[in-house]
Amino acid sequence: MNNEDIKISIAIDGFSSCGKSTLAKALASKLHYHYLDTGAMYRAVTLFAMKEGLVKDGLLYVDEISRRLDEIDITFERNKETGRSDVVLNGKNVEKEIRSQDVASLVSPVSAIQAVRRKLHKSQRAMAEKKGVVMDGRDIGTVVMPDAELKIFMTADTEVRVLRRFEEQRAKGQDVSMDQVRENLKTRDLIDSTRVEDPLRQADDAMVLDNSELTPDEQLQMALGWALKAIEDKKNAVTP
Ligand code: C5P
Repeated sequence: MNNEDIKISIAIDGFSSCGKSTLAKALASKLHYHYLDTGAMYRAVTLFAMKEGLVKDGLLYVDEISRRLDEIDITFERNKETGRSDVVLNGKNVEKEIRSQDVASLVSPVSAIQAVRRKLHKSQRAMAEKKGVVMDGRDIGTVVMPDAELKIFMTADTEVRVLRRFEEQRAKGQDVSMDQVRENLKTRDLIDSTRVEDPLRQADDAMVLDNSELTPDEQLQMALGWALKAIEDKKNAVTP
């Protein structure tokens, strides 16, 4: 595959646990693009707020969180064992901690804070400028990369998503019930799609991918077909 000369940006948005990151990583690997998991960044900010006591007894100290955002440095480092990118918060690898149920239950309220979004958008947009990037999240096609040549909006049946997330968390040794997972997904989807700042919504020009009955490979082939077409279209637009 020769895509060296023309690179596009790919935005993947959708509900929680739709397999966005699985698809995004596979696409990035096939196309030799950069991958950015923006959800991991919001999770890292949430972990910071929890550790600093800025979220306590169900209360979110919004002003304090907003004021202390400069103390947060988020980077990624390659994990030699998994071959994937781990999240590093202020010099410490927090990949495991940010995937905990505690973080999952607080991340949506923290992500709804305007100052948090503005901070993370800065580094996401800097990454987007590079082209040859696959980014997944909730507002990528609508806010972070509105000019992305390919936008994918992912969805899947709720019970399929619950089962996938439950099995994933159990495999990591986390003690969660199906009911807890279901409750968390529903609550996050509701907060993410109804918040004032950059709510989750399908971009008008997004391709919809419902993967309720697709294997990871089937969804990859579908998305790869769209990506190759977008690259071809861009090539034709540049050299008529
Ligand atoms: O993708 P993931 O499930 O890890 O995202 C965790 C949370 O981060 C989401 O439920 C949402 O509240 C927030 N998020 C966001 N905007 C993004 C990515 C994630 O608000 N672009």
